[in-house]
Amino acid sequence: MLRRTIAILGGGPGGYEAALVAAQLGADVTVVDSDGVGGACVLTDCVPSKTLIETSNAMTMLNRAPGLGIATGGLATVNAARLYERITDLARAQSQDITARLAAEQVKVIAGPGRLSGPGTIQAGGDVTLNADVDIQRTSTVATHVDISGNSISLTSQYGTVGTGLEEIIVQTDAAGRGVLSGSSYENIFVQQLDSELLLGTITTGTGSVPGEAFISNPGGSIYNGLFNGVNIVSGTTYLFANGNIGTSTDKITSETPSNAPTAEVEGQASGSGSIWLAPRFCAAVKKPVLVRILQLAGRRAGARRGGLWRR
Ligand SMILES: Cc1cc2nc3c(=O)[nH]c(=O)nc-3n(C[C@H](O)[C@H](O)[C@H](O)COP(=O)(O)OP(=O)(O)OC[C@H]3O[C@@H](n4cnc5c(N)ncnc54)[C@H](O)[C@@H]3O)c2cc1C
Repeated sequence: MLRRTIAILGGGPGGYEAALVAAQLGADVTVVDSDGVGGACVLTDCVPSKTLIETSNAMTMLNRAPGLGIATGGLATVNAARLYERITDLARAQSQDITARLAAEQVKVIAGPGRLSGPGTIQAGGDVTLNADVDIQRTSTVATHVDISGNSISLTSQYGTVGTGLEEIIVQTDAAGRGVLSGSSYENIFVQQLDSELLLGTITTGTGSVPGEAFISNPGGSIYNGLFNGVNIVSGTTYLFANGNIGTSTDKITSETPSNAPTAEVEGQASGSGSIWLAPRFCAAVKKPVLVRILQLAGRRAGARRGGLWRR
């Protein structure tokens, strides 16, 4: 079953209730909130107003007490500092309760401002830079639909992923010349080039606490080094799949040296008559189960276009 990934902007009652229901239904949910989980309801509206009402009710009762024959020693007064402290204590406790409840349902919470960065499809003749606070995901269900068409394409996910294992972002990097593809992700990257050659810029995965992986495929062509200087794979493990070549003998796809980045690795699989040139760590065709799954996925897409180049 497809596991949906959902980002919710705002952690008030609307946001956190939606997050809990979505998580209970099996979604992978992230809530982004700038002011505190619980929202205005907990922090400024419902909880503070009920606390004020409780205090004023108590004052009213105390001030009526003499009429009932109870001596109170004069009119009740408010200790504003204590009242404010009680409001913030209650609001904080309720916000923490809701945060714990979200954590128990495996809902991720990101503290900070978020923004809706527009529809999932971008098409332009020039360079494309797409930065997301959380995930960059394709919205089209059509396998041949190009999500991003441009010259150089740079995709950055600050706290999430770029594409998913089931839905790679489909790019076309050569719409206006010889553009390179670069990607940076807190978690993983899944990108497929549509036709022609793909020039690889820098790939950075796993900038969070978990090591990241990038799966970059070009079922219709080769993957070459698009950098004049510098390393392609800055961190994490990158798996490259091409129908043609991966790198050239004089211009290999490079990963950061182990002494600088112990986790930076690149592996490749070239089908057809393609050759692989990688440096400095791995240069063998890969047969890991996870890659077979990705290849099957790519095969499904490529098969729809050109007779199943990737089918094994
Ligand atoms: C004085 C008062 C008393 C109330 N008492 C009650 C009551 O007793 N019972 C009741 O049912 N209702 C009560 N309400 C109404 C209740 O507060 C609202 O209905 C409720 O807060 C709405 O919830 P929400 O999730 O839509 O939005 P909010 O509670 O406003 O939460 C929105 C959250 O999203 C965050 N956010 C917004 N934009 C962004 C962004 N771009 N990036 C990141 N985060 C963002 C905000 O910081 C906030 O935390 C009261 C309202 C008031 C004013």
